[in-house]
Amino acid sequence: MIKEVITDEEILSRPCEPATAEDAEVAADLADTLLADDEAVCLAANQIGVTKAIIAYLNEAGKPVIMFNPKLTQKLKPYTAVEACLSREEPSAVTRYEWIRVAYDQLVDGKLVPRKKKLEGNSAQAVQHMIDHCEGILV
Ligand SMILES: [Zn+2]
Repeated sequence: MIKEVITDEEILSRPCEPATAEDAEVAADLADTLLADDEAVCLAANQIGVTKAIIAYLNEAGKPVIMFNPKLTQKLKPYTAVEACLSREEPSAVTRYEWIRVAYDQLVDGKLVPRKKKLEGNSAQAVQHMIDHCEGILV
């Protein structure tokens, strides 16, 4: 179901709780909402009002990738990025890393399975922005 993207800083600045397989519906709503927004390339569950650590981003093929409980495990090549956020009015400058490794859970047949992924460029930047959202950090 397509949800509204919120700007409520009290909700957005709260660190998210770990997500479980029971949060499958939240993940589906997140993907629907991301696909429905022409400008969005990524979205965190707290941006649709659910303070669970679930993120979604569009991969190079424009398909939503969902990650439960994403964590950065490695980061290389820092740079300064100016980022916009759907939940904020003004863009801000922030340090990002060109190359990252992420550990996360993927929902497979109703169960969470641990996964790892190497990302770079736009996908890496989107995932770092989203992991910040999960920790209650806004750019
Ligand atoms: Zn954001």
